[in-house]
Amino acid sequence: MGIASINPATGITLKTFEPLDETAIAQAIDLAQQTFETYRHTTFAQRKAWLQAAADYLMANSAGYGKLLTLEMGKPLKSAIAEVEKCALVCRYYADQAETLLADHPIATDASYSGVRYDPLGIILAVMPWNFPFWQVFRFAAPALMAGNVALLKHASNVPQSAIAIETILRQAGFPEGAFQTLLIQADQVASVVADPRIKAATLTGSEGAGASLAATAGTHLKKTVLELGGSDPFIVMPSADLEAAVTTGVTARLLNNGQSCIAAKRFILHEAIAPQFLDRFVAAFKSLKIGDPLDMGTDIGPLATPAILHELDQQVQACLADGATVLVGGDPSALPIRAIAEFQQGNFYPPTILTRIPPTSAANQEEFFGPVALVYTVADLDEAIALANQTPFGLGASAWTTDAQERDRLLAGLEAGSVFINGLVKSDPRLPFGGIKRSGYGRELSSQGIQEFVNIKTIWVK
Ligand code: NAP
Repeated sequence: MGIASINPATGITLKTFEPLDETAIAQAIDLAQQTFETYRHTTFAQRKAWLQAAADYLMANSAGYGKLLTLEMGKPLKSAIAEVEKCALVCRYYADQAETLLADHPIATDASYSGVRYDPLGIILAVMPWNFPFWQVFRFAAPALMAGNVALLKHASNVPQSAIAIETILRQAGFPEGAFQTLLIQADQVASVVADPRIKAATLTGSEGAGASLAATAGTHLKKTVLELGGSDPFIVMPSADLEAAVTTGVTARLLNNGQSCIAAKRFILHEAIAPQFLDRFVAAFKSLKIGDPLDMGTDIGPLATPAILHELDQQVQACLADGATVLVGGDPSALPIRAIAEFQQGNFYPPTILTRIPPTSAANQEEFFGPVALVYTVADLDEAIALANQTPFGLGASAWTTDAQERDRLLAGLEAGSVFINGLVKSDPRLPFGGIKRSGYGRELSSQGIQEFVNIKTIWVK
């Protein structure tokens, strides 16, 4: 596939783009480097004003940009608008906090003055996915720009209009030309950009394969990377939990963004004492959701972003069923009523699906299901729940439900994940660090840890 916006609800191509050639890429890197030489000397106050203006602009135009996201990748309009508004939040957070987070930090030694200062690095390359086309980029760009770096964005090939819009928003807000540029390039053009000596570091959010490939190139050139990769988050429910809240949150945690979220709850691990009650309500809730036109504000579930994602998810479900799993709801995209509507016949719709009795040998237990499919397991006790939760190659987030303080503490300590949420949905929040362990990646975004990833933590010592 080239670089193109294709409406996932209808299959209609909205716009296509030619990838930049080598000359255009070189010009963009030249401009970024030139801009960095002056941009690095701008004050926090100046950068803060620009980022606040970007936040204001996002809030004022959230409906229009929300519609753009929906048309490009199919998320329901209400969550698309919420995504744009969340970007304003991260801009405001770093606009307000960056100066404090990057303040010189004195450390007493035998010197008359010693400590740490934080200097920008230069051009940072961001390779980003389509699932949260605005949020993923703003959560990288806001701290990077506040730290005095400049940025190049290689966005996913199916969201080029979002990529262009982000550059426009930041320019409109006052950031100088070259401080943030979108490069419309394909995945096989990334390695040569990473290799350019003026690119100082790179961050990638996406699949394991893409992350490994970028990190390999960056490693060859000894450049730092941050990787935010896939996940198969557990959602553990113990007998003492508030079952109503656990079910309601579990449905959202699995199906948000049409199920295409790295931190979606993907494996539901239920204590056997409450499993039947939980499942009755969970299945009923999945059945009640409205699948339809994502531009309709009443729609809960829109189409998956591309036909390839639909195909892969369908294959995973079929393989799991062939392994001996049971389907409680969904599982058959051809049976969806929306497919009978002519306009949506080419849409990538997949029904909310729940699979259970998955044999331990099934490959499904080790995979990420990037769509509205919940895998359900039943366990006898907390030890079994924690062991099963940790039994994947991933380690992004984990949600667990209990009102027992001892169980809570064992879950907080025992779950192998970059974040553990008790009695709540795993979510990103500008004030808290975000990232994974194991094959979910390394490094952190957001909070103080996020802004310190792409700076020179310079030790200074004065006699
Ligand atoms: P993807 O195929 O890896 O694409 C992500 C980005 O990487 C796109 O811009 C893509 O460009 C680029 N890319 C692909 N192969 C590359 C390569 N060999 N070298 C350099 N760049 C390459 O991932 P996706 O399918 O779009 O996104 C879904 C995955 O992202 C899921 O696994 C999900 O869990 C993960 N994700 C993680 C987080 C997190 O914060 N941890 C957040 C969101 C999503 P093209 O589009 O041109 O191929």
